[in-house]
Amino acid sequence: MDISVVIPLYNEAESLPELTAWIERVMEQNGFSYEILFINDGSTDNSWEVIRSLQAKNPHIHGVAFSRNYGKSPALNTGFARTKGDVVITMDADLQDSPDEIPELYRMITKEGYDLVSGWKKKRYDPLSKTIPTKLFNATARKVSGIKNLHDFNCGLKAYRSAVVKHIEVYGDMHRYIPYLAKNAGYTRIGEKAVHHQARKYGKTKFGLDRFVNGYLDLGTLWFQSKFGIKPMHIFGLLGSLMFALGFLAVMIILILKTVALCSDSYDFYVTKSVYFYLSLTAIVVGTQFFTAGIIGELITRNSAERNSYQISDEF
Ligand code: UDP
Ligand code: MG
Repeated sequence: MDISVVIPLYNEAESLPELTAWIERVMEQNGFSYEILFINDGSTDNSWEVIRSLQAKNPHIHGVAFSRNYGKSPALNTGFARTKGDVVITMDADLQDSPDEIPELYRMITKEGYDLVSGWKKKRYDPLSKTIPTKLFNATARKVSGIKNLHDFNCGLKAYRSAVVKHIEVYGDMHRYIPYLAKNAGYTRIGEKAVHHQARKYGKTKFGLDRFVNGYLDLGTLWFQSKFGIKPMHIFGLLGSLMFALGFLAVMIILILKTVALCSDSYDFYVTKSVYFYLSLTAIVVGTQFFTAGIIGELITRNSAERNSYQISDEF
């Protein structure tokens, strides 16, 4: 199979028939063998009935329904596990992304050797309250991830070599950083294509202002994971050692001062009045805590079997 199209959706019933017809048209015109995977992320409208009726007319369509709203990342992750195509395309369900981009994205993966090609909404049709923070967000993401050539990390329209989606784990709100996840997994040929973007035709955005706060927190987590994720002891152990060294130094200073004081009767020195006493105390306690965090972190990284199980209510 050439292409798997993965579409996460939450209450997008009005857009689905139009989107499906458009994708079918593009696939037929280009002679691609394909499948469309709709991941219904706990919609409360009749999206699922719409997907079923679309499937009745086109056997290339498959659907997975979550029993509740888990979020876009779990939906993508679930879709990724089921793809069969050589190239995987993700797109939003709201008709903001254009299926006409699919042939060129497919070509960039298969012919130009990219692992991942991200869409770039060069000209956006979103309110200013969204586009300005997005610029800031992308600048930070470029810096932290070291992927300097991407303008638009969070574009819903992306293309992947199949191996990429099978080896990354998209959870929480990590869909914003898929290129970074791919890079950390060793897929470094990451490209970009300017894509057409349209204003939302039906319904409204599913993300509020908290997207920015969560976005930055996730970036911090990813940075930490990529640096120390499998070896938390490397950072906590280092901090702990530095603290211990500081504490040891302070203890030595106290010992010297006290010895000097004992040897000369004119000089009176109380250990508990010395700043070094408090310094040594704090440093050693904090140092121990860092070490403990490191050891617990090491244990946790080896232990989390159920982290990607989402309850599925229906599937075909
Ligand atoms: N989406 C989802 N689960 C959610 C929120 C969003 O599957 O909890 C889907 C949504 O239906 C759409 C895509 O993710 O297909 C992008 O969402 P939206 O268009 O609201 O985001 P925006 O374009 O405003 O960034
Ligand atoms: Mg949208």
